[in-house]
Amino acid sequence: MTFLLRSPLLLLSAALLTAPAWAQQIPDPAFDTCLSGLRAPARAAGVSEATFTQHTQGLVPDMGVVEKLNFQPEFRTAIWDYLAGLVDEERVAQGQALLLQHADTLARVQERFGVDPATVVAVWGVESNFGQTFGKSPLLQSLGTLSCFGRRQAYFRTEFYATLRILQAGHIAPERLVGSWAGAFGHTQFMPSTFERLAVDFDGDGKADLMDSTVDALASTANFLARAGWQTGQPWGFEVKLPSGFSASGEGRRTKRAMGEWAARGVQRVDGSPLPASGSAGLLTPAGPQGPAFLVLRNFDAIYSYNAAESYGLAIAHLSDRLRGGGPFATPWPTDDPGLSRAERREVQTLLIARGHDIGEVDGMLGDKSRVAIRAEQERLGHEVSGRAGQKLLKALRGG
Ligand code: CA
Repeated sequence: MTFLLRSPLLLLSAALLTAPAWAQQIPDPAFDTCLSGLRAPARAAGVSEATFTQHTQGLVPDMGVVEKLNFQPEFRTAIWDYLAGLVDEERVAQGQALLLQHADTLARVQERFGVDPATVVAVWGVESNFGQTFGKSPLLQSLGTLSCFGRRQAYFRTEFYATLRILQAGHIAPERLVGSWAGAFGHTQFMPSTFERLAVDFDGDGKADLMDSTVDALASTANFLARAGWQTGQPWGFEVKLPSGFSASGEGRRTKRAMGEWAARGVQRVDGSPLPASGSAGLLTPAGPQGPAFLVLRNFDAIYSYNAAESYGLAIAHLSDRLRGGGPFATPWPTDDPGLSRAERREVQTLLIARGHDIGEVDGMLGDKSRVAIRAEQERLGHEVSGRAGQKLLKALRGG
């Protein structure tokens, strides 16, 4: 239901497109007409007249979100860049500290929903950087705009009505309801309709508050996974070694085969231990058979359903293993220029500034300005001019 719109990957790309502030506050007669037309269907969807009036009066569109909806990334982010930024030492250390800090809550969550602490905290870390990145778009404005302009209006209207119902029920104060440009909000980055289905009041104050209650947020994440078919006590999967010449063609997350069949084909765990005696799994080779390979079980599908992207599922799965004390993947990615952690991205930005480039703030997000500077440096260094920063560029910049 929420799929690609919530992908951190796309949010990152879309963050590069920011409409000028003046463009965001202009009243628009077409928008007002559209909103008036939504009053009756909103009513039919359980939004009272009073709620609708209260929250749409004076609402102006933000056409920047329509641009973001239409934005096509210039190039695909390689899986090793994606994971290097999402699962880095910083996030592992922070997640481990939060596992301790919230140990009691997480234990109660596990008891109630059957999902282990590391998995819940890994989702939290990837979705909102443990509650530090919620997005900055007021939901009423962004979802109101997307209900009236651009493609997929029917989808966004159902989310707009859900937003109004959440406000009507008093779960979250209107001024706190701010999220991604596409309407995902809070610690768990749920869409409003997902909130209505799955948000849980776990601290007992009568409200499911995914903005300001960590307890509610952790429980709601576990509830999501439980409802997505989480199997208590089962792993998401594990990294495997493929025998040389192995053909992974036609294999994938959905093509589940018995463990015995994988074993018979020579697939082994990377630590040399045997595959489980029973159960079934699909084979993921996100960078082809030369890169890391994984057998994924039913629980990977539950994680996948959070955002409908395998790279995203792998980030959460891997982060959960790292939080449990596991190491990096045993098989290197098939590249001679691995990706950068967020600390390394900040270092690249600092080095670019030192070389006189105006890239704005050092934030670890390699946005448009950083990419222009990266291209200039790649040209100067005689590297391939890609605008992508990897270990090669970092080393070269450190060298001056
Ligand atoms: Ca609550």
